Amino acid sequence: MAQRSSKLTQSVHAGSAGDSLYKGTVNPIFPASAYDYEGIGETHYPRYFNTPNQVAAAMKIAALENAEDGLMFSSGLAAIMTSLFAFLKQGDHAVLQHDLYGGTFNAVTVEFPRYGIDYTLVDGSNPEAFEQAIRPNTKVIYIETPSNPTLTITDIKAVAAIAKKHNLISIIDNTFASPVNQNPIDLGIDVVTHSGTKYIGGHSDICCGAAVSSNENIKQIWNSAFHFGGSLDAQTCWLVERSLKTIVLRVRQQNENALNLAQWLSAHKKIGKVYYPGLPDHPGHAIAKAQMPGGFGGMLSFEVLDDPHAFMSRLTLIKRALSLGGVESTICSPVKTSHSKMSAEERAKINVTDNLVRLSVGIEEVGDLIQDLEQALE
Ligand SMILES: *Cc1c(COP(=O)(O)O)cnc(C)c1O
Repeated sequence: MAQRSSKLTQSVHAGSAGDSLYKGTVNPIFPASAYDYEGIGETHYPRYFNTPNQVAAAMKIAALENAEDGLMFSSGLAAIMTSLFAFLKQGDHAVLQHDLYGGTFNAVTVEFPRYGIDYTLVDGSNPEAFEQAIRPNTKVIYIETPSNPTLTITDIKAVAAIAKKHNLISIIDNTFASPVNQNPIDLGIDVVTHSGTKYIGGHSDICCGAAVSSNENIKQIWNSAFHFGGSLDAQTCWLVERSLKTIVLRVRQQNENALNLAQWLSAHKKIGKVYYPGLPDHPGHAIAKAQMPGGFGGMLSFEVLDDPHAFMSRLTLIKRALSLGGVESTICSPVKTSHSKMSAEERAKINVTDNLVRLSVGIEEVGDLIQDLEQALE
């Protein structure tokens, strides 16, 4: 059981096995893919998800999420799809929120039918919709909050209670919030997944994923994981461990910057709607305030009234980029990236207009970010 203490302390110390040979302050990299099998409780092997650096990174994330155990994966999608397939089989049914990360949406809608798994997509902002979609063969409820790109909020506690009542496994994608701002296990969720490529890596230079849960659930996910084989190498696991030592500092700064920018953008005459759960007029603000005690996150989106592409090309500090969660601020057009395959009508339903841009706020001085936005809007 991961020890409960302050997140700052956990981020630095949890999970590390230490250096017993030279007494160095950091956990060494153990690159071996071959280990002795005699006199050892369990055989170590990278695809068994149990080599020293894999365990160190997984246990640090588990500690930050108040989970008992965890597994590191080679990508966020490997963590998500392995977790889903671990609890689903042919003939089963899953209830998922409609507002999902594009890669997850595509994976579920393409792969589930191929394996005879049925699913229903529901409005994430309405907990009752999840309960109404439950069938006798439902096994899993899957949510993602705040969602991409308009930061809609799903009531985690309400959905987790529905899952418990009907004996279902609840799984959440906690990528946007990060373990600093939101800990779904405390709210009754069974399995927390992350794209570690975003805030956990935090420097736009790692691709990885994680799943954390109870010992029992992690055992079940492991039973599928070592078949599907989406394990992560020792070097990257070590980089994850290193990155996590500053996640609390990074995300706190990103929270503060994003709230400042959301307020500044809301007051700007060349900006239309601003979507940020930290703004009092956001429809999910009250729920976000209750379930995100660490802060409202570093992601926001807004409508640029003039040509959004000309605006983005005039930015000098803020870089145009697809991914998110790095220490540097990045911006993108959802219509041209994550939501390009959706029809204009479908996009209109979820407020993804041609003028919408999504900003991943970094840790820069907020005044410099405002200056860059200001000159690009003029
Ligand atoms: C990026 C992302 C994923 C997928 O993660 P990969 O590491 O790219 O596989 C899943 N969910 C969310 C919310 C993401 O932002």
